[in-house]
Amino acid sequence: MAEGYCVKCKAKKEIVDAVEEVMKNGRKAIKGRCPTCGTVMFKILGGKATPVSNPPDGAPPAPAQPPSKLPS
Ligand SMILES: [Zn+2]
Repeated sequence: MAEGYCVKCKAKKEIVDAVEEVMKNGRKAIKGRCPTCGTVMFKILGGKATPVSNPPDGAPPAPAQPPSKLPS
């Protein structure tokens, strides 16, 4: 069962009447309603376009920041 964050209840709620949708960018999302207050909830599911916080294994390390020029 899909869960989403209801901005009105300020809590995580089970999404009722959940409908899966595919957005223009190819990502999937679930659209439904909060069981408590009926506010429309929208949850974006993980997709290929979702940026990952951790680079996958084997990815080259991030390039080092160029040393900032210190004022002389
Ligand atoms: Zn709610």
